[in-house]
Amino acid sequence: MPPLTAADLGLQTCHVCGLVSRAPPGAHGSLCPRCGAAVHRRKRDSIGRTWALLIAAYILFVPSNLLPVMRTASLTGTQQDTIMSGVVYLWVSGSWPLAALVFFASIVVPLVKLASLTFLLVSVQRDSAWRPLERTKLYRLLEFIGRWSMLDVYVITILSALVQLRSLATISAGPGAIAFGAVVVLTMLASKAFDPRLIWDTQNNDDA
Ligand SMILES: [Zn+2]
Repeated sequence: MPPLTAADLGLQTCHVCGLVSRAPPGAHGSLCPRCGAAVHRRKRDSIGRTWALLIAAYILFVPSNLLPVMRTASLTGTQQDTIMSGVVYLWVSGSWPLAALVFFASIVVPLVKLASLTFLLVSVQRDSAWRPLERTKLYRLLEFIGRWSMLDVYVITILSALVQLRSLATISAGPGAIAFGAVVVLTMLASKAFDPRLIWDTQNNDDA
């Protein structure tokens, strides 16, 4: 016998205040009786919206790495640095821990996040029944990392402050920094748009 879900009992949860209420029969969505927020049984168009945000993040990942993230103007002239050239500069100048931190936070983590979300989407679209618990844990990890994603931006800020102290130069953010911020925000929105309940749908249909 398949496990009973809240939807089977005609119950739905408000995402704003958490109140469980009875869904009016036949209605797709309704309003929460306590706080008035729109209540849906599922996140609407989860797969389509997640793909749209994810693809936008992939596209912006290219300029975020190719365009300069910071411009350094000093007496000797202006220098433009991309994330990678910044990492190389730090590495060559002997700041290995900082070089590793910037590389990890600005290139590895965003790529791993994009790849994980893509994997979750593809597995859900293929009705995969493979390791739903592990995939749910992966999703929870993604949401957790999402909250700390702006760390990358802090790293760049600290980095520019360090350079500024050393060389009496003026630092300003380049267009790459905007693209980078957009990648972080779009990835966060994409993971918010993804409905992890989709992972478990195949489990209930197993005996069908
Ligand atoms: Zn509510």
